[in-house]
Amino acid sequence: MTDGDVLAIAIDGACWPLVNQWIDDGELPNIARLREEGTWGNLESCVPPVTCPAWKCYSTGKNPGKLGVFWWENLDLHEQTSTIPTANDFTEPELWDLLNENGISTGVVGMPLTYPPKSLDGFMVAGGPGVPDTGFAQPRSVEDELREKFDYTPRPTYPSSVEEGSTEVFVEESIEQIDQDFTIAEYLFDAYEVDFLQICSFEINGPLQHLFYDGEPTRRAWQVIDKHVGSLADRFETVVIHSDHGTSEMDKQFYINSWLDQEGFLTRKQSHFERLASYGLTRDNIRGALERVGLRRPLSNIQFLRSLAQHIPDSTGQFGETEGKAIFDKIEWDSTKVVGLAQGPIYIHDTEMDAGTYEELRAELIRELETLEDDETGQHPIQSVFSREEIYSGPYLEDAPDLVALDTPRYHNKGGIGKQTLFGESEWRGNNARQGLYILNDGAECGTRIDAEIYDLAPTILELFDVSIPEEMDGEVLDVVD
Ligand SMILES: [Zn+2]
Repeated sequence: MTDGDVLAIAIDGACWPLVNQWIDDGELPNIARLREEGTWGNLESCVPPVTCPAWKCYSTGKNPGKLGVFWWENLDLHEQTSTIPTANDFTEPELWDLLNENGISTGVVGMPLTYPPKSLDGFMVAGGPGVPDTGFAQPRSVEDELREKFDYTPRPTYPSSVEEGSTEVFVEESIEQIDQDFTIAEYLFDAYEVDFLQICSFEINGPLQHLFYDGEPTRRAWQVIDKHVGSLADRFETVVIHSDHGTSEMDKQFYINSWLDQEGFLTRKQSHFERLASYGLTRDNIRGALERVGLRRPLSNIQFLRSLAQHIPDSTGQFGETEGKAIFDKIEWDSTKVVGLAQGPIYIHDTEMDAGTYEELRAELIRELETLEDDETGQHPIQSVFSREEIYSGPYLEDAPDLVALDTPRYHNKGGIGKQTLFGESEWRGNNARQGLYILNDGAECGTRIDAEIYDLAPTILELFDVSIPEEMDGEVLDVVD
């Protein structure tokens, strides 16, 4: 006897190469059982394979060209604007909206890009980075209840690096967040008796897999997930476990804007801050000064230094990464034709360019980036460069980056302006990869492998509920539904 119809467990950055080793060691018995008795396979993500917009590609069944969001940040070089999307920037109906329209109640916990949360027949607790302490749940009474019963607060904004001494706290907070999200999801499921329950663990990838890849903190977090999978799975007729993208092991960074600068596609503006280096003011000696006056709390130190790093060079004269509006101030736009963002988007800046010249420029960038080598390792940092027409379709195609570079597993393509070298060592150990995973278990023991795309899951789940599938969805119903 089950209580709910479908449970979907979204695990950020989950993929088989990472999970198989723990399944083989017997450390994830519940996930292993669901796979053995279910249908499973790779789940190919969008390009670039990044949390934003990948989770929305999942929930809408649509490619980014139909969503109008292509990465964590959209640039408009003509208007010189940068937009960092929130839930309000996504207007296409999501799985939970379509289920609600057909009288099926839904509960959603922890999904990135759900702040501000929408009102559902059921409940929504916003997840992912940037969720504030209030206004994170719908209905509003849920928020008070969670605070009172579980002392629940939404996840803090983590720094993207850790210093020695802060790592332990940071790992514990991340694992506790994963544990707590499952606990409150099960509590709300019992309270609201929804038909469809969606839970997302964002912390597993950002930060744990990014910083430790398959290290001990990640293994522990996966065991926490497996424990909850064990207690929840039998309460639903169908269980889906799925990712937004995969993760690969890496150790190097590639600075695309330094390469564009070197090749003459981009001109960096000399800022007056740059002259500070000649007076001996660097990030390293500022750090020393902060420590001397007693500002030693590790996390606040990192955040403070990260904001300083946008403007002040380090002891080698290099600047930190800058994204968003800051990028506009650091570029000499009159002589810049191309600019890149981290993880892949490449924008061409020249509205006067005729179609032939535009295509020649794109072909040149594709050719040069795909053949570029790191002299030190002999490896290519970029495996493929796609034109936007190859990977996107829909009304927002014209807003898309002109090209998107997909990095190779070992190299993380970084944005930012000001690095003096093309390559650097990475603090991260896990890079986003295109192949994620899914398992679908509806109790009909089959154990078959069918590889799928991220767009296929929304139509498949709608089919499980006998809800008609909107034609505009890009995915297909997987051959697992009777
Ligand atoms: Zn992700």
